Amino acid sequence: MSEPFKKRRGICGICPAGCWIVATYDHGGKIVKVEADLNSPLGITCRLGDHSPEIIYASSRLLHPLRRKGPKGAYDFEPISWDQAYDEIAGRLNAIKAGFGAHAAAIYTGRGGFELAMCDIFQPKGVAISSASSLLFPFGSPNTMGVGALCYVAYAMIAPHVTMGAMLINMFPDIENAEMVVVWGANPATDSPALDLNKIVQARKRGAKAICVKEYTISYVFFPVFCVMPKPEYVKYAN
Ligand code: SF4
Repeated sequence: MSEPFKKRRGICGICPAGCWIVATYDHGGKIVKVEADLNSPLGITCRLGDHSPEIIYASSRLLHPLRRKGPKGAYDFEPISWDQAYDEIAGRLNAIKAGFGAHAAAIYTGRGGFELAMCDIFQPKGVAISSASSLLFPFGSPNTMGVGALCYVAYAMIAPHVTMGAMLINMFPDIENAEMVVVWGANPATDSPALDLNKIVQARKRGAKAICVKEYTISYVFFPVFCVMPKPEYVKYAN
């Protein structure tokens, strides 16, 4: 009888959420399955995480830097080494600085994450978490911009601040002991990561009530709730 495939606990690296997972490896060391780590506080993965082996081993996945050699839009690229790529980027940034000043450079960053394990693993030692603090400010430019992370700003900053007077990072929802859960303007099943979904499902199973307040219809297949949909004119006013 052949040996069973090995399993390892880890974090999913597909997006910055860093959900806890269990990866199954075949005898050649290739990941064949990724599942939620049910012993972790989160205990859930999204569909992207479930299919992460397909992403990791996709033949079209970029593994090395490519330099455009044809006109824009012609998709004509050639592979270059990491050292070459860094040298070219640094050379061009310094040329911009020499010609127009450091302020001519800016950084635009995308979504953030609630889990810092990715930073712990990949970030060079001694740099700040923010790419602006590590690179742009020492370069001499203050011009940092970002997506304003619609989900994070709404869910972790504005909503808790105007309703509870505090930022989400300073709040600790006691869903485990709640008799009623109010889901306000969110769909916990589509959160990335789905931080509260399992807790709400468990709360519903032990008899807690759940009410959602949402301005459009969503399917709460995971945990049936009483849904309140404010009238459009009220939503307009509330916005
Ligand atoms: S949200 Fe999905 S893709 Fe992102 S880390 Fe979690 S399982 Fe992976």
